Amino acid sequence: MKSIGMARKVDDLGRIVLPIELRRQLGIRAGDELDIAVDGSTVLLHKIESRCVFCDSMTDLRGYREKQICNDCVGELSGPSAAAPAAAPPTAPL
Ligand SMILES: [Zn+2]
Repeated sequence: MKSIGMARKVDDLGRIVLPIELRRQLGIRAGDELDIAVDGSTVLLHKIESRCVFCDSMTDLRGYREKQICNDCVGELSGPSAAAPAAAPPTAPL
């Protein structure tokens, strides 16, 4: 674990502001949830993935390798036959 050289003061309510550079780097946005862990005197924040990694949807999520993917994207990734309704029969050449 290394310091990123950015210090922030804790306000009267115990809040700190995560630097924008850090939020961008880690993909942390307003409304995201962070898990808080303590190791001795060290506080660790871990982003809880609550959005689809592909489309940012927050509904119908499934976990896969510690990432969240929505059912729509799972369907698209499964291929056109799995996501699309049965195709119309091919038309005969004229
Ligand atoms: Zn998605």
